[in-house]
Amino acid sequence: MAGRTKYLLDEEDMPTQWYNVVPDLPQPPPPPLHPATREPVGPADLAPLFPQALIEQEVTTERYVDIPGEVIDVYRLWRPSPLFRARRLEKLLDTPARIYYKYEGVSPVGSHKPNTAVPQAFYNSAEGVTRLTTETGAGQWGSALAFACATYGLDCEVWQVRASYDQKPYRKIMMETFGATLHPSPSELTEAGRKILAENPDSTGSLGIAISEAVEKAAGDPDARYALGSVLNHVLLHQTVIGEEAIKQFQLAEDTPDVIVGCTGGGSNFGGLAFPFLREKLAGRMDVDIRAVEPAACPSLTRGRYAYDFGDTAGLTPLLKMHTLGHGFIPDPIHAGGLRYHGMSPLLSHIYELGLIDALAVPQQECFAAGVRFARTEGIIPAPEPTHALAACMREALRCKETGEEKVILTALCGHAHLDLPAYAAYLGGQMVDNELPQHALDTSLAGIP
Ligand SMILES: *Cc1c(COP(=O)(O)O)cnc(C)c1O
Repeated sequence: MAGRTKYLLDEEDMPTQWYNVVPDLPQPPPPPLHPATREPVGPADLAPLFPQALIEQEVTTERYVDIPGEVIDVYRLWRPSPLFRARRLEKLLDTPARIYYKYEGVSPVGSHKPNTAVPQAFYNSAEGVTRLTTETGAGQWGSALAFACATYGLDCEVWQVRASYDQKPYRKIMMETFGATLHPSPSELTEAGRKILAENPDSTGSLGIAISEAVEKAAGDPDARYALGSVLNHVLLHQTVIGEEAIKQFQLAEDTPDVIVGCTGGGSNFGGLAFPFLREKLAGRMDVDIRAVEPAACPSLTRGRYAYDFGDTAGLTPLLKMHTLGHGFIPDPIHAGGLRYHGMSPLLSHIYELGLIDALAVPQQECFAAGVRFARTEGIIPAPEPTHALAACMREALRCKETGEEKVILTALCGHAHLDLPAYAAYLGGQMVDNELPQHALDTSLAGIP
């Protein structure tokens, strides 16, 4: 049992640049298209929604982007985050595999989301924006943006998916403590929300609907911009601090991962951890399998169509080439609220199409069983989202037990569950169901997506 458990970096060892994987790929990802002209969108199309600096990062072909000093100063509140060796979990599984997890639950809101919320709020405030609008599912992203807006003195207005708004009152209190204003989505405050409510007054909402509402509000207010917590290139770019730190921490551990697993909602925590390792793999310096894990109820990579589709339900965003379940898709209200999105990061979708990563979908009872085993050995109760990565990690570790392989598995533990405990109550109380997406529902939601 003896042996080192935590690999810690100094604040001085924090990365000073984010890594952009695009120039290292064999082909560039297809561009976003304007829905009316089907031509690639230009900076002017995006200017009502995002500040110039983020529009530039969205399309940059530079391999590295400097992290502003003002952002590094805020990152110091929780970064560098620890890399743990899961020795107690290894023992429970009786596996020869070595399991590591990079833990992002040490941030002020308990997830990886502030890694991008902080730079997004910073660039907006630097360009004179006074208010940000956004959507949130489980509440992790809304809390992260609320915290970041408080840091730079911006107003923050959040549309939270109704299902989570009702299930998770503590996230609402956290966002309000940071000074944000909250609305359940669909709401009566936007045309998009009113339209949904007219068709279905009991709608439990979806990330796609909440995005429509936040985008509509920002587009109608010259002092406001919109912030997205996942999916877009600049978001994945900011999250690469996770992988850059992990690479340095593996040097301290004198070890190298053979398999990386992470959960994918829109792809940001997974991309953030995996892309710096993918750079090493593409350069021939590392041989690593990279594996995305998604819920069986919302399986965009494994069962979605790779097509141009809207990022939101009302069709207000540019068309994105991505793995999609259809922009009208409303996933079952599973407990991993952060994984209930109909699409996937276009960059990650492209990388998946290139065959550089693989993907699997896991039903939620297996995920929570993995979460409970992890909690009882490692002492951290994982957020519902990363239990998906842990389930895949445990499958791999148990395969190693059968084959005797001493593989090194790295998993992204992107958040803790302290405000998601009702999900564990449902699991422990035997009230959790596996809701694999039925084929007919998928066929219906994909009808009309070319
Ligand atoms: C938001 C969130 C996710 C899903 O988003 P990604 O962009 O796929 O990372 C996963 N886990 C946690 C803890 C989250 O807050």
